[in-house]
Amino acid sequence: MVEAADPKKLAYVASAQDRDHGCCIVWAETRGKAKALAASELDVAFDEIDSLRRERRLDDFTGDLVQWQLDEGWSFPCGFCERSCYGGSSLRVVDQMYCDQDHADKEAERDKKYQLEHAERETKAEELKRRAAALRPGSTVHGAYWNEHGGVIDITLPSGRHVTTNIQWLESEEGQSA
Ligand SMILES: [Zn+2]
Repeated sequence: MVEAADPKKLAYVASAQDRDHGCCIVWAETRGKAKALAASELDVAFDEIDSLRRERRLDDFTGDLVQWQLDEGWSFPCGFCERSCYGGSSLRVVDQMYCDQDHADKEAERDKKYQLEHAERETKAEELKRRAAALRPGSTVHGAYWNEHGGVIDITLPSGRHVTTNIQWLESEEGQSA
């Protein structure tokens, strides 16, 4: 995220030692503020910003910043494989870069699959909560999820006992009398 240009603010290009975190552009009234903003933007400590350079051409910039960066030779990680993408042959979708159309498609597919799986997990968790509540009326079900052993419930039983347990235990005689 980049803040819109403000006439009182000056542009800086900052970079962190850690190459994974890369570079960013920030606008701030002072160098100190710019450094703090950059650290937050790059998700590194204040002292890890090892270069902070004034970029006068961006002081009043209001256009397409990503395009400006690409024209200046910046690279961005591909949204699918994280390889560095430069302008030219790379593909840009909104503010995300991809190696090519194939990687953009694959990322869209991966995202869709993830969302479906997420929705499926949510549905199963809701089912589990309903089952637990039906098994032990008067309980408060705080949460539920599935793992490799089955359904796990976080529940306060009518007795006031708070347990995190699997659904089988709740169905068992011991669970029923707990
Ligand atoms: Zn790629």
